[in-house]
Amino acid sequence: MNGLKEKLYTFNALCLGAILAIGSLLYFKLIPSYLYYFLWQSTFAFLVIAIGLSIYFNKSKLFTLLLFPLFYNLALAFPNTFFTHLSGKAFWHIAPLSCAIGYLLLYALQERGLFSLFGLLRSGIALGILGISYYGLNHFSSNLHTALNTPLLPTFLHKITQASDFIFILSIIALLFIFLVSLLFEAQTQKAPFWMLTSLMFSFLVMQEAQSFILFSLLSALIAMSALVHDAYKMAYIDTLTGIPSRRALEERFLRLGSRYVIAMVDIDFFKKFNDTFGHDIGDDVLKLVAKELNHVKNGGKAFRYGGEEFTILFSGKKKEECIMALEEVREAIFRRGFVIRDKNRPAKSSKATKTNPSPKKERLSVSIGVALSQKGKTPQEIIKKADDALYKAKESGRNCLICS
Ligand code: GH3
Ligand code: MG
Ligand code: MG
Repeated sequence: MNGLKEKLYTFNALCLGAILAIGSLLYFKLIPSYLYYFLWQSTFAFLVIAIGLSIYFNKSKLFTLLLFPLFYNLALAFPNTFFTHLSGKAFWHIAPLSCAIGYLLLYALQERGLFSLFGLLRSGIALGILGISYYGLNHFSSNLHTALNTPLLPTFLHKITQASDFIFILSIIALLFIFLVSLLFEAQTQKAPFWMLTSLMFSFLVMQEAQSFILFSLLSALIAMSALVHDAYKMAYIDTLTGIPSRRALEERFLRLGSRYVIAMVDIDFFKKFNDTFGHDIGDDVLKLVAKELNHVKNGGKAFRYGGEEFTILFSGKKKEECIMALEEVREAIFRRGFVIRDKNRPAKSSKATKTNPSPKKERLSVSIGVALSQKGKTPQEIIKKADDALYKAKESGRNCLICS
């Protein structure tokens, strides 16, 4: 779990860094003008790829949010083809206004996939907002301009933003709302909209130049793509229940394993009793607790969920004795800790124990461990088999112990 949190910090830091870097490049005019045509093409290409990926991964939030930069880049690219009276004034008012409202509404709706009623509703809202914006871009009147520019904030704030007070306030509300809601989620596809809107708003509120909009749209496409790829990676390589790497991640790790390593197979003792006595939810909690303990194994060991209630710990390039010490330490920690059944009202398959024991009770919890060392000419899969044999012996020897083959 720590690894995931670290990746999230890295993601946030990278997004912020990229926004500031692009802002500086634009501010100091460090991008030669002949590059813009290429950058514009790239923006369209990446927006289309990001939209394709969001459809492929069934993410309706990102799909609809990406339509906004795509629409406004098309507006900039073809001002005379689709628009009758597209002016800069209209663009820099309508675009931020519709993005702030659109992102706010579309983010507030729950993610239920693109191909669902919710997905259809979300797409309908996005297209509705963009339709109104299209009308607004073509019929931007001086009355609307005056209304949007009613002074609402102290004048010193105009040094920060080029936008009207109303649009500025609305954008800040949208950003704040998305930021606060995104704190509830761990998935990067839920964090990305905040950075996408920040990046677009940087252009709308601070810079107000076509070049800045092209670059910040490109960045928003890249942010969406990296979030989609990251979440897909997480789905494939991280076990959803325990949050530690999955068996697939272990097999991947084997591909770049050196010649010296130690593999431990860890199995929870009498795990079935947790499921049978207290229910599957408690069984899941036990798995999470054991995974958390195993994740803290010392001597550089890396824990994976091999399947069911079996885990693998891999030590790469480490000495056998030190690995055994680290494993024994973890085995003892799990045994000492036990498992406290917290919720006595939790539905159970067989509630015998809960009826007779109303107060929280510490259940005995232990693991058995089988260890095997790498051998010349043997594959990691063969070493796993040896560790499994040792684990079987540990079970036969009374459990809650470690046996090295
Ligand atoms: P032993 O000491 O010999 O290992 O006995 P055991 O009861 O731990 O072993 P057994 O293989 O009989 O039971 C493993 C159980 O783990 C059976 C299966 O239903 C349960 N299980 C596997 N995956 C999960 C899971 O993700 N969640 C829960 N709650 N149970 C699981
Ligand atoms: Mg077991
Ligand atoms: Mg088992």
